[in-house]
Amino acid sequence: MAEFAVAHARGPASSVVLAPGSTPAAPRFAECGNRPRAVVYDIDETVLLNTGANYDSAVRGDPPFDSARWARWEQGGAAKVEAVPGVVAAIAAIRAAGLTVVFNSNRDRSAAVPTAAALASVGIAGAVPGETLYLKGDVAPGSAKDPRRAAIDARYCVIAMAGDNLGDFADAFNDRALTPSARRTLAQSPTLDALWGNGWFLIPNALYGAWEGAGVDDLFPVDKRWSPEP
Ligand SMILES: [Mg+2]
Repeated sequence: MAEFAVAHARGPASSVVLAPGSTPAAPRFAECGNRPRAVVYDIDETVLLNTGANYDSAVRGDPPFDSARWARWEQGGAAKVEAVPGVVAAIAAIRAAGLTVVFNSNRDRSAAVPTAAALASVGIAGAVPGETLYLKGDVAPGSAKDPRRAAIDARYCVIAMAGDNLGDFADAFNDRALTPSARRTLAQSPTLDALWGNGWFLIPNALYGAWEGAGVDDLFPVDKRWSPEP
């Protein structure tokens, strides 16, 4: 990601945000022109590992997602996150090349200040709400990221995006009418082959393999364990 972004900091480039009206099956991308260039990162499990919240879930037997509890984590967990390995150096290198780093996250806009604090706590300072930090409720209601992507891409030319969810690249992948296998097929469209690893950077979540034998004491450093106040 960083090498790609730095290599495209100057010279001809196109946005990697789908142009309005285009689709993953028939994508179009606008030239950068004179817009300043930016790189867009998702936050959760792309830049920040939510170690404290994952600890809280693990010790309660991994219950279904609880949005109220997650909201408390967004507000109060800034000191209990960790950086995804390599991302702090990558963002520093991207910024040093003169590019702007913008975060597009589905954390709620009411948590803008603690989200910026969580980023700063791992060494990524300078996320400014409304300028370089776009959250759920900014630009448009709801968790769709396309409206925020469009707003970011109007202000900057987005030359690279990184995320751990297909919706970090285009909301079309999150169409509820699509089955998981249809989503996978769409993401593997020949029209998109040239983008993966070359403007679109998908970070896999660890779901299986040697991770399965790990327990709470293996996975959660003592200083990153979080539970909400009673
Ligand atoms: Mg994520």
